[in-house]
Amino acid sequence: MSKDDSDGDDLMDFVEEATGGSVDPDRAVWRVLIIDDEKDVHSATTFALRNTEVVGRPLEFMHANSAREAREVLSKHKDIAVILLDVVMETPNAGLDLVAVIRDELKIRDTRIILRTGQPNQAPEIEVIRDYDINDYKLKSELTQARLFASLTTAIRSYKQIQTIEAGKRSLNMIVSSCAQLLTQKGINDFAQGVILHLSGLLSITPEGLICVSRKGREGDQDDPRIIAAAGHYVELIDQPVTDLIEGEAKRVLLECLKIKHHVYRPHGIALYLGGQERDMACYVSSNAEINEIDEQLLELFCSNISICADNLDRVDRLSDYAYKDVLLNLPNRNALLDEIDKFMPKSTSERGSNDFVLGMLDIDGFSEINASLGQDYGDETLKVVSKKLEQQFSDGAYVARVANDTFAVLGESNKVNAELLLEPFKYPLIIAQEEQTISFTASLVPLCDVDGGGSEAIKDAMTVLKMGKEKQRGVVHSYDPAMVNEAIGRLDMLHQLRQAYEHNQLFVVYQPKFNLQDNRITGFEALVRWRDSKGQLILPENFIPLAEKSGLIVKVGSWILKQAVATLSELHNRGWSDCHMSVNISVVQLINPGMIDMLSKITDDFGIDPKFIDLEVTESLAVKDLNASLVLFEKIKALGFTLSLDDFGTGFSSINHIQKMPIDRLKLDKTVIQGASSPDGKDIIKMIIEMAEHLNLEVVAEGVENGDQVEFLRSLRCSLAQGFHWANPLDAHALYQWLEEYK
Ligand code: C2E
Ligand code: CA
Ligand code: CA
Repeated sequence: MSKDDSDGDDLMDFVEEATGGSVDPDRAVWRVLIIDDEKDVHSATTFALRNTEVVGRPLEFMHANSAREAREVLSKHKDIAVILLDVVMETPNAGLDLVAVIRDELKIRDTRIILRTGQPNQAPEIEVIRDYDINDYKLKSELTQARLFASLTTAIRSYKQIQTIEAGKRSLNMIVSSCAQLLTQKGINDFAQGVILHLSGLLSITPEGLICVSRKGREGDQDDPRIIAAAGHYVELIDQPVTDLIEGEAKRVLLECLKIKHHVYRPHGIALYLGGQERDMACYVSSNAEINEIDEQLLELFCSNISICADNLDRVDRLSDYAYKDVLLNLPNRNALLDEIDKFMPKSTSERGSNDFVLGMLDIDGFSEINASLGQDYGDETLKVVSKKLEQQFSDGAYVARVANDTFAVLGESNKVNAELLLEPFKYPLIIAQEEQTISFTASLVPLCDVDGGGSEAIKDAMTVLKMGKEKQRGVVHSYDPAMVNEAIGRLDMLHQLRQAYEHNQLFVVYQPKFNLQDNRITGFEALVRWRDSKGQLILPENFIPLAEKSGLIVKVGSWILKQAVATLSELHNRGWSDCHMSVNISVVQLINPGMIDMLSKITDDFGIDPKFIDLEVTESLAVKDLNASLVLFEKIKALGFTLSLDDFGTGFSSINHIQKMPIDRLKLDKTVIQGASSPDGKDIIKMIIEMAEHLNLEVVAEGVENGDQVEFLRSLRCSLAQGFHWANPLDAHALYQWLEEYK
């Protein structure tokens, strides 16, 4: 696009311009195609117009001696401004036929056509002139040098106008489609890159430029403009402040543009102001092309469209910030980590072998206690300090994210992310709220090549290893072990099956009699749950009770067991075993359930059983875990009339102090302690425990008694009660009734 500075259309121009100097090969020209079967016409025309400049450009002539030849030239050159066309050539209508080909077949619309004939009777119909957009019609005799020039000037001016309008249309189209395209770009940087390219396209120049942005702060302050996208030799400047640009036109023009908030046009470059609601944005492109009025209007339109696009994009950016950033810590969140892992996840088995990326996950030990005891603010502060430490530690090439409350993840290659590096920043106390604080972490490490699936599977695996690792040992890094993850998956599967088993009555209760060691009388029974799965396989409680406890299912299952046990006891009382009691194992999860006390009294009421016949067995380790809370509950249970036994005694760390405080009636010596009776040391332990129990006024129940030696030894120590295979295996209700009939 170049400025049209030739306004005159009279012959004087011709005279002046015709005297102009020689043609510069680099200058733009107007191409004129002469089509005529008379050699003389060609030479006469070129001679008449030699050294002529029209509408600011010299002419370049092309020649065709027939319609056929012309067709060939025209199919190769679409940029011909004017055709001087002879009507009569190989046929009387050859010229007019060619016009039809040019417009309809070759679809050349911009090129102007001047028809020339030798005779007035060869003139075309007026319809032809109109339909084929013919510029002029002249008799060859009329075409003097001056007339030829005038006719050509009008045609070229018209050609130029058409081209400008066409270019304008194309540019408008481009602006509309660029905005649509640009909006699909991810993020402002890609968008800005697109703007440079589209703008260069619009100006038909090679992309050479940059875009800078300065964000407006909340208080109206503004940060220094930074370069967010660039093309051509500016590419290396991305991410740098504009002030770092070497002194020169680009810098000057850009800063001026941002200052006056308006476009700046200079001979070697233009800066367009792309302001917006939350930022100032400007685009600079190097361009030697002259910018005319139409260009300016188009650029104006382009800029205002781009500005709106950018505002929308800011909004999208902010939304995606929310979706991908942790607001408290300004760290990537789980979503962001997912995407990041997916980038590095091996896509094939062959890639698997060479993939060296690992996902580390860290979880603060006892964070909920920190939060509960020192407050939420302190908790937040802790997280901030921890995240800063992690960012510092893994600033070089690893990716740090927050995936859950107090759980962080680090993704990187194995030389950058490993067990030692994960816990290193926390070897020494951190400064939290001006105080030194030691924070301990448990962590897990999962190589991506071991993960079956994508990012979400990787996170799941790392979480599983972390969770299971926490149960095993805190404060260390647990490495991925497929068996561990399978176990967890198995657990989940089992939980599902356990729920079904409970709902489909696949659980049942067995009873093991308890004996008075002194007189061999049956004093009671212990209820123990069993699960027979759909394949008829018996599953023992130690394989599913912990799962039921973890999932909370134990609350429902536990009340059901209690109901079964009380029903059986009621039946036993009816059958004559009226002074016998029933022991039921109660898990701590049940105990702390708020409905527990009501449930207990309801069941005994329903069956008309005095609670004194129901003995609740609670494991020592669990009771001690939260002693004070347990004590309160124990008191309530005792107040209802139930008796309490401390189960698994001798397996944990008992303190006489604790036991003294508990309102319990019995100690149940664990079977592992009883098994120890074969050694002198083991014997001593049993002896000590029984003496202590006597001292504390507690009855002792020996569990897992399997042989006569054990019976004799326990009896010698005046142990009161015992149960075990020596007398009977746990039996289901019917088998028990039968067994008791025989025992009598
Ligand atoms: P526990 O309370 O210590 O139960 C005693 C375990 O010893 C029972 O295992 C019983 O079958 C087994 N046993 C009985 N006599 C002998 C013997 O002479 N030798 C040996 N070696 N073992 C004997 P079981 O039924 O597999 O139960 C395992 C654990 O599961 C129980 O330990 C208890 O902690 C838990 N459990 C069982 N039923 C329930 C229940 O209904 N609710 C709750 N919360 N836990 C239960
Ligand atoms: Ca028990
Ligand atoms: Ca036990």
